Amino acid sequence: MKNSRRQFMIMSAAGACTLALNSKVQAQTMVSETDPQAAALGYKAVATTVDKAKYAKYAAGQECDNCALYQAKGSATQGGCSLFGTKQVAAKGWCSAYAKKA
Ligand code: SF4
Repeated sequence: MKNSRRQFMIMSAAGACTLALNSKVQAQTMVSETDPQAAALGYKAVATTVDKAKYAKYAAGQECDNCALYQAKGSATQGGCSLFGTKQVAAKGWCSAYAKKA
C-alpha cells in the first residue's frame, strides 16, 4: 500500500513536469515570414531563399545563428532575436537587419 502511494506521488510529479515543459515549448512561437514586421525586414526562415535582387546586402553564409542579434547558442535550430520579442527565428534564417556577430 505504501509503495503504491509513493508511485502515485512520483507519477504525479512527472506529469506536472511534462505539463510545464509542454507549455514552455508552446510559448516559443516562431516568427512567420508573413508577419508584418518580418515581411518589412525581408525575413526568410531559410537564408538562401532571400530575394537577392531586393536585398543586395545579403551575402552567402549570413544566417541568424551568426548574427549579433541572435540569442541562442550552440546548435539550436531556432532562437530569440532582439527584434522579435518573445518569438523565435530560425537559426538558418536571415533578415535585412543582419549584423555579423563579432
Ligand atoms: S536581426 Fe539577425 S537574428 Fe534577427 S532575424 Fe535578422 S538576421 Fe536573424
